[in-house]
Amino acid sequence: MNSRLNLSISEVKGIGEKLQAHLNELGLFDIHDLLFYFPYRYDSYEIKPLTELQHEEKATIEGQLTSEPVVQFYGKKKSRLTMTLQVDQFAVKAVMFNRSFAKKQLSAGDTVTVTGKWDQHRMQITVSQYKKGSAQSQEPIQPVYTLKESVTLVTLRKVIKAALEDYLEDVEEILPEDTIIRYKLPKRQQAIEQMHYPQSRVLLKHAKRRFIYEEFLVFQLKMQLLRKLQRESTTGNAQNYDNERLTEFVQSLPFELTGAQKRALSEILQDMKNPYRMNRLLQGDVGSGKTAVAAIALYASITTGRQTALMVPTEILAEQHAASLQEMFGDRLRIALLTGSVKGKRRRQILSEIKEHHVDLIVGTHALIQEEVDFNRLGFVIVDEQHRFGVNQRRTLRDKGLHPDVLFMTATPIPRTLAITAFGDMDVSVIDEMPAGRKPVETYWVKGQLTDKVLAFIQKQIKSGQQAYVICPLIEESDQLDIQNAIDLYDQLSNIFEPGVHVGLMHGRLSNDEKEEVMHSFAANEVQILVSTTVVEVGVNVPNATVMVIHDAERFGLSQLHQLRGRVGRGNVQSYCILLADPKGDVGKERMRIMTETTDGFELSEQDLKLRGPGDFFGRKQSGMPEFKVGDMVHDYRALETARQDAAQIISGNLLEKNHEYRALKQMIEKDPHISGKVLD
Ligand code: ADP
Ligand code: MG
Repeated sequence: MNSRLNLSISEVKGIGEKLQAHLNELGLFDIHDLLFYFPYRYDSYEIKPLTELQHEEKATIEGQLTSEPVVQFYGKKKSRLTMTLQVDQFAVKAVMFNRSFAKKQLSAGDTVTVTGKWDQHRMQITVSQYKKGSAQSQEPIQPVYTLKESVTLVTLRKVIKAALEDYLEDVEEILPEDTIIRYKLPKRQQAIEQMHYPQSRVLLKHAKRRFIYEEFLVFQLKMQLLRKLQRESTTGNAQNYDNERLTEFVQSLPFELTGAQKRALSEILQDMKNPYRMNRLLQGDVGSGKTAVAAIALYASITTGRQTALMVPTEILAEQHAASLQEMFGDRLRIALLTGSVKGKRRRQILSEIKEHHVDLIVGTHALIQEEVDFNRLGFVIVDEQHRFGVNQRRTLRDKGLHPDVLFMTATPIPRTLAITAFGDMDVSVIDEMPAGRKPVETYWVKGQLTDKVLAFIQKQIKSGQQAYVICPLIEESDQLDIQNAIDLYDQLSNIFEPGVHVGLMHGRLSNDEKEEVMHSFAANEVQILVSTTVVEVGVNVPNATVMVIHDAERFGLSQLHQLRGRVGRGNVQSYCILLADPKGDVGKERMRIMTETTDGFELSEQDLKLRGPGDFFGRKQSGMPEFKVGDMVHDYRALETARQDAAQIISGNLLEKNHEYRALKQMIEKDPHISGKVLD
């Protein structure tokens, strides 16, 4: 792009060596960085009527002091100043901490403007800024930037201003004229100026709208271009499976596929038949029948003489899957189980069977693709619980010189909003229908701990032949304490229920053999109550278990609670989920309420996203989710969808190559290392 914008920030007036170093710490190196270092929020001192304020919103209000402020001191330096403001017909309490000196400046009858956090229920504001007099004279919109101690707001604003003065004219428009006209977007230069120095709410809104669209469009173009390049680079990959054998297998299953399963399956089979490498995500709620679809797809590939692999996140799951798949397939194919605990001679034997193609399907943990495994004609890989694997697994396969079709499966229903961004370079199939005859799990919220009533309920279920999970209290950041809790709870429940009822204990510190033994005795109903940390979260299947009790339910996200709840309701007996929780805040209470009201995983995930935001959705930092500077995937969902459609048109029409108006966009996209180096997964 334009060379002057690539100059070091040291060229900007007022930036000396020291300041330059500090700005570098903020990630600001060239002038382009500086111009595009947008505020992350804007404080508004715009005065709204009290009736329009939202609870806990940062608000500015103006009112008249009805009496002298009252100050209370406590501790050495701590104080609390309280004043009552008359705002229209309302009396509002304003509270200010550790600024007792304000009492001298303010007296009854004064007009005061205060900014702070609004408490709707108490009609109270916790003041962070105050000012004697009315609000008029204050600046209406105040940009707030991410800063470090070494750079003050004043300094940053000064250097951005200097950069704008000398370099804004060099900023190029990157959107084609007709796009700008169609969406009534401001030009790039104007928009940058408004982002830093908003003249009004309306102009700021349009500036943001522009950059949100621009950011999403560039992102979508990159994703879709990558997808196209990837497709084109992997032709010659058609798998012409044996339809007759496949049909025979499908008909041997003890159930008819649901409509949603059939749809997902035909999408997957279509991918197999065509010459491109499959890169698809299969989403479906717990118990929706993904594994059945996966099995059929695996078999399809096997009928072409290829080897296949199924990767799952834990050893227990690998074992369960290997066993249930073998049962489904009978002697149609040979399955090998390969996990970390398969060692020594047996391991060497399995490895050689794989290499010699004496096995058709290898089930294992992700160690499968990282270790000394030498596949023979690997044609199809399924990765279960996709988000638990790093995003680099496909690369590992590629580095081994393998280009199989890859299907990712996840039981975490991913909101559409996230799916199209996080997986913009993937095709997505959704199983959004449960097999007939399932009874939704009834969910109850009980305040606090295990009450006698809950214990009696568990007792009753066990008497009638069912089993229960009890998930232990969770101690944040401490495995050790979690395990101690599990042991305590296990002791407690053993005392209550033994000898008639057997209680089992499951946690992450048990050896694999121990875990397996516990799971087996639970699956065989030798143990009726399984006390566990959250390790049972994924996939484990014991249809006779009908009660799920979750301690500290408020500490979990909705999606995680839903996963845990998915451990029950897998048979045809009515199941129950009991959430023990004492949430302090409104969000926690809201979560419990939602859990008791819906069992639809997709709806829960949308709600979870709203309550937690996209960053938290997949858990800590493991997700590879894109981070947007201006746009918000949830809030600006419609812009994202628009950008996605526009990008699709641009790519399919090959406009980046053909149309001169897209030259700047093209250059920008090609700078991306994935695209320039065609680093394809
Ligand atoms: P998921 O992998 O999505 O959690 P599974 O494939 O394990 O779900 O299916 C859950 C249970 O439902 C299994 O016991 C499976 O045999 C059964 N099942 C799968 N598909 C159907 C169907 N179409 N009709 C009835 N039962 C089904
Ligand atoms: Mg294919």
